[in-house]
Amino acid sequence: MILPDSTIGMLGGGQLGRLFVSAAHHLGYRVIVLEPDPYSPAGLIADEHIVAHYDDSSAMQRLSKHCDVITTEFENIPAHVLETLAISCPVHPNASAVEKAQDRCVEKTFIRSCGLLPVPYGSITTYSEIAAAVDKIDFPAIMKTARFGYDGKGQCRVNSLEEVQQAYNTFERQPCVLEQMIDLKCEISVILARNASGDSQCFPVAENIHIEGILHQSIVPARADKAIMQAAQVAAKRIADQMDYIGVLAVEFFISQKDELLVNEIAPRTHNSGHYSMDACITSQFEQQVRAICGLPFADTHLLSPVVMTNMLGELWDLSLDKPVLNAEPILNSGKSKLHLYAKREARAGRKMGHFNTLAKTTEIAQKEADAIFNTIKESL
Ligand code: ATP
Ligand code: MG
Repeated sequence: MILPDSTIGMLGGGQLGRLFVSAAHHLGYRVIVLEPDPYSPAGLIADEHIVAHYDDSSAMQRLSKHCDVITTEFENIPAHVLETLAISCPVHPNASAVEKAQDRCVEKTFIRSCGLLPVPYGSITTYSEIAAAVDKIDFPAIMKTARFGYDGKGQCRVNSLEEVQQAYNTFERQPCVLEQMIDLKCEISVILARNASGDSQCFPVAENIHIEGILHQSIVPARADKAIMQAAQVAAKRIADQMDYIGVLAVEFFISQKDELLVNEIAPRTHNSGHYSMDACITSQFEQQVRAICGLPFADTHLLSPVVMTNMLGELWDLSLDKPVLNAEPILNSGKSKLHLYAKREARAGRKMGHFNTLAKTTEIAQKEADAIFNTIKESL
């Protein structure tokens, strides 16, 4: 067991890292962040911020020398970095688990190997594979770069062979997957923590509403079929077991109009759709990550109250000003919402700047309140 007063290394400096640092501090740990951006949200509050690239060898040496355990908040940390660090310090999750989530083709093959259904797709690694991929799926479809996509970036809707060819060229002929567009009934996600003994514990399933490929709200309890939600939790556990995963893992699912449960993607880290746990559960996903990687017992994850998490993107800031500001008053005035800001230096359209959790007796009331707050902020711009 790695007890409080020990030092945890965090690879990556984004908001997930920042919220982790804060949870680790509450439990009395120190955190060293390795992140190249000198003004990163996590680096700003870490006990030490090593400003260097993830694969900088002296930075890696310093991190592994001074940390008792190392974790990550970002799936694009090169796998060889995790492997090298793991020679001299425990690293959770393991390199091969993270690697599986870095490439959509590898990820989908892995999902199949777990006996689960990925979204129907064809992989395109050369121009000549386009025709075969188009044969495998029905239009409308969505073309996604195999690597480095996030928040709907590196994606393009396509309706014909010509559009697929065009998209492949637009993406500079990087490896891609062509996914069938699913007629969605609902999107859900499961966040779970798994420890070194192989025990895992799920958070309540979240129902996720996306706008233009970016998460807008998570609603908990989700309004999906109970049996399907249970199947999703079982599926997420199977994925974590197969990866020999230690830490917190998120799995995004699609539920089709025909009630099929499809795995959209795996995130080897805490997840935006789990932010509700910060205010609506005894334990947040970030504290659970600390517990899982340090070998502490898991804390309770049951839901204390219905909740709606609403993301705040840069659009909610007055971007016409030299120093854009957020009108936070509607959130602060509502006694039922909790504001979380990530201290990003610059507000930009599409950038995740913060979120607020709205608690109420029912999810309907919480969503009404959250929507009213959101609209008031938008209208005040
Ligand atoms: P993130 O990492 O933020 O989750 P991402 O860039 O990896 O995003 P995806 O999860 O692949 O993106 O897609 C983002 C959203 O776009 C999905 O949650 C869903 O709303 C929509 N979407 C993506 N692929 C499909 C599909 N095949 N059918 C229907 N909707 C889709
Ligand atoms: Mg996604």
